[in-house]
Amino acid sequence: MTSTEPLVERMRGFGTTVFAEMSVLAARTGALNLGQGFPDTDGPPEVLEAAVRAVRDGVNQYPPGLGHLVLREAVSRHQSEWYGLDYDPETEVLITTGATEGVSAALLALCEQGDEVVALDPTYDSYAAAATMAGAVLRPVTLHPPDFALDLDAVRAAVGPRTRVLLVNSPHNPTGRVLTEQELQGLADIAVEHDLWVLCDEVYEHLTFDGRVHRPLATFPGMRERTLQVSSAGKTFSVTGWKIGWLCAPPQLVRAVNATKQFLTFSGGAPFQPAVAVGLGLPREHFASVAATLQAGRDLLSEGLRAAGLEVFRPEGTYFVIADIAAIGERDGVEFCRSLPARIGVVAVPAQVFYADPASAATLVRFAFCKRPEVLAEASERLSRL
Ligand SMILES: *Cc1c(COP(=O)(O)O)cnc(C)c1O
Repeated sequence: MTSTEPLVERMRGFGTTVFAEMSVLAARTGALNLGQGFPDTDGPPEVLEAAVRAVRDGVNQYPPGLGHLVLREAVSRHQSEWYGLDYDPETEVLITTGATEGVSAALLALCEQGDEVVALDPTYDSYAAAATMAGAVLRPVTLHPPDFALDLDAVRAAVGPRTRVLLVNSPHNPTGRVLTEQELQGLADIAVEHDLWVLCDEVYEHLTFDGRVHRPLATFPGMRERTLQVSSAGKTFSVTGWKIGWLCAPPQLVRAVNATKQFLTFSGGAPFQPAVAVGLGLPREHFASVAATLQAGRDLLSEGLRAAGLEVFRPEGTYFVIADIAAIGERDGVEFCRSLPARIGVVAVPAQVFYADPASAATLVRFAFCKRPEVLAEASERLSRL
């Protein structure tokens, strides 16, 4: 046995990720890391202080399986105040170990062997692995540059007799696309017509630009009862290492997801939970100022990329911008990203790794702009040497 490949066959495509490779490169070369999406500034001081206080106050043991009530109540209030959605904190809110666990636990709970999950492509890297662990298969619906608009006919064509879940991520990583009202309505129509569960990854719900507002799919008629809305504190409060997420859904769906979630982690992050509750209660100006700062970062880095000769696809939200290196005569994003740290001291990620068909996105590269202005300015200066 020990001489054979230890990793099970179904997971072989998910060995070392390009993120791990690029982060090692960043650490070894000291390059500016615009690869992985994490901010280089800390979150709101009152949120950080609340976590410290909770540790000192002894909030250090297993939280209840559903999560601390104070956070479930804060999530419920947030849903109601921002979106007019009512979720009962006792039965309709589940605290998870980041949005990643929320998505994985939901797919494990909802998919039978061989079921299909229709998802916007490119996809966040955990989706395909989570679907595979659940015995399900992703059916990608590709968003194409320059605008990454959603082709609703392609969604309809992807839905078949085995489709169980529609997995929607908006604002969308890695394209930065925010789905329009019409696109969301189209998805809602398809979900109702085919009686699908709808799993919404909304971790960038507060990080939208140019006056755009995020509207959850659960707010459309006929959707609340079939929608599992997943979000997380990591992106909104710049605390990606805390891994505190939540899932809102009708009681039978929360019970189903909790049935799998309890055996993944049971529960965790005890002292961070009341701190995130403080964050969710911050005034609206706080959320607006975080988005405005990020928008300025987008503009700064986009200008640098454009000045360096790359074609830039303007993101409407998230931490990321996609640029096309074909404009500077490059052919392959993987080779480009491998050489970039040594060439100019910048790390980025080839966007093709997010696509079901990598060849179709060979020259697209993703850059993270959730960094301090001086870092983005320095990155722009280095990019100008290309
Ligand atoms: C960052 C990210 C996540 C992960 O959220 P965690 O709370 O850190 O688990 C999930 N989905 C998308 C689209 C992301 O970009």
